[in-house]
Amino acid sequence: MMHITKMMIEIRNLLQKVGQSSSVTLPSIVVIGSQSSGKSSVLEAIVGHEFLPKGTNMITRRPIELTLVNDPDARVDYGEFPDLGLNRITDFSLIQKNLTELNQSVPDTECVSDDPIRLIIHSPKVPDLSLIDLPGYIQVAGENQPRELKRKISELCDKYIRGPNIILAISAADVDLANSTALQASRRVDPRGERTIGVITKMDLVDAEKGAAILSDKQYPLRLGYVGVISKLPSQGLFKRDTGNLLAVISRNEKAFFSSHPSQFGPEAKVNIGTVTLRKKLMQVLEQQMSSRLQATTDAIQRELEETTYQFKVQYNEEPMTAEAYLAESLDNFKHLFHKFASSFGRPQMQDLLKSALDQRVLDQLAARYWNKPVEDLYAAPNEPDSIADLPKADPKSHYWHMQLDTASSALTRLGVGRLATTVVSAAVQSNVDKLIDKSSFAKHPSVRQVISEAAATVLEDRAYTTSDGIEFSLKPYKYEVDIQPQEWNQGREHVAGVLKGELDQCQAAMKNLENVVGGKKKLKEVMGFVDKARKGNIAVEGESRNGAGGFSAALLARGREAVFLRDRADIINMRMLAVKSRQCKPLENKYYCPEVFLDAVATKLTQTAVLFLNVEMLNDFYARFPREVEAKLGEQMGGAGIERFAREDPRIRRHLDLIRRKELLELVLSKIETLNRLDTHNDAKLDGG
Ligand code: GDP
Repeated sequence: MMHITKMMIEIRNLLQKVGQSSSVTLPSIVVIGSQSSGKSSVLEAIVGHEFLPKGTNMITRRPIELTLVNDPDARVDYGEFPDLGLNRITDFSLIQKNLTELNQSVPDTECVSDDPIRLIIHSPKVPDLSLIDLPGYIQVAGENQPRELKRKISELCDKYIRGPNIILAISAADVDLANSTALQASRRVDPRGERTIGVITKMDLVDAEKGAAILSDKQYPLRLGYVGVISKLPSQGLFKRDTGNLLAVISRNEKAFFSSHPSQFGPEAKVNIGTVTLRKKLMQVLEQQMSSRLQATTDAIQRELEETTYQFKVQYNEEPMTAEAYLAESLDNFKHLFHKFASSFGRPQMQDLLKSALDQRVLDQLAARYWNKPVEDLYAAPNEPDSIADLPKADPKSHYWHMQLDTASSALTRLGVGRLATTVVSAAVQSNVDKLIDKSSFAKHPSVRQVISEAAATVLEDRAYTTSDGIEFSLKPYKYEVDIQPQEWNQGREHVAGVLKGELDQCQAAMKNLENVVGGKKKLKEVMGFVDKARKGNIAVEGESRNGAGGFSAALLARGREAVFLRDRADIINMRMLAVKSRQCKPLENKYYCPEVFLDAVATKLTQTAVLFLNVEMLNDFYARFPREVEAKLGEQMGGAGIERFAREDPRIRRHLDLIRRKELLELVLSKIETLNRLDTHNDAKLDGG
């Protein structure tokens, strides 16, 4: 018979994991009572150990779901917190400490939480029982207790004392039963007193006559009756704390008291007394209540299973799913995207990227060495040889223009192309990888996202230094001389025209922006006129101070100067665009007249050489190593539980996993019920036979 209760409790605990639905559950015994009614003492007497949180200000804030497992093989009593992964705690003061901490983890603002703490106690001395210890009802809220505490405790208890649970209503003998909060609460949900067991504590504190009268059940009849107990620990010293024989000590104490009042508590009196009696009663009532519910529960489980199976079919087409499979699939999907990217990003793409970075450097060189020469310098001597407007007419052997071009070209080759190339390509690859993650199912997993992104960075960084060095080495000859072929010249001529056009567009856009900022074209023209005049006069703008000059504010003047700069730059670029397109720039021999074309051709040469190196040293290496690095890093991040946590981050997968788990649990429970029924029939047959 005992075995059956154990199995039913096991089934009940499994059903707890299935979900909230009250029809798919088996009853448990819920323990209610007001503070100080002796609730903890009764529970501890039943368990045989002190293990509940104590202290003057200690209010239980979470239900404790206590499963007692009669374990004849257990050499010592021990507890387990299955949700915390804490097994075999043989020191009950440690259990007490854990419970206290779990209890205190409920924030004050929340008052109480209905998330139960699960505790399993194994012992050869306990019966198989399932008990739920609820927060004690408080009469008057204490000074530093939140106001709602009282109401919230009451609401929480109401949730648990619903049927089919058995109510263990604790009341102290020295308090008028009419005032017992526990009995009041139980009467609300169980008005006929069919599933309430009354426990009267502190029997030693009232007159025997009065005590016996309470137990005889006249005032508030309960079908399951009342049991009178004295669960106070005898004074210390006599009783060595926590040796596990608490019940023996208490029951000796009870016997001594009750037997000294034989007419009130003797066999003739027909009242239930003593903690041992209470324990027996609990076992019987729980087993009866569970057995009588079993068929209804089985039916409900079957219906639930049908529904779950149906949902599994329509929602997921019966597709199996595990966290591991989801991870593997996500990884495959990501790798597939990555391979697609890898086949679309190679030398031509790197060439474009690096070339446009170098185009900017070419423009910088041009600006620094050529374009800062005014178109017509008002103060220059009429035949000043180095005005850029004179360049097309300059002497082909002009030492000045030769030097300018050589310096610009050399500066370009020495600007650190190796570093620039690796940086530009790394950044592009990194940003592409980040975009791939966005497209993949990893997008929904921030932590994995970071791992992959960092894996890319690590692999890229790893090669950056040697690649950059290698590129510099391969570019070394160009630092002394660059030999351009006519074909390269033609291409440069074509390309740089586009670059100049782009730069011109940017100047114009910036100009437009300034117009908007100052409040219109006209206004900007006025300021520019003033700036020009001041420049021509070659004087500091008279009286210009922080407050501005000429009726313009300092800020406005700054914009004016900016606009004048943009206009002059645009003029020069326009002029150079014409030059590049002119006949003058057609033959390669005229390279000193056309620095734009020459520098562009040099930049292209540098790019081509760098990209050859980048491809071998960095990109191919990245393509080979990155997927492996991702796998390794993910493996590191996710041990066992990590994979489950990862998969559940995706709501769609979480629902899928939950449904499967639910189905599996329900199937497991049904198979256990079947075993139970077989066992029961077997027992009956044996009884009939004997
Ligand atoms: P809880 O707040 O309902 O859990 O109550 P406790 O179990 O902590 O008991 C409150 C106080 O009543 C404690 O000081 C206990 O020692 C005392 N107490 C509990 N049961 C009895 C009893 O049967 N007789 C006597 N005299 N005192 C008891």
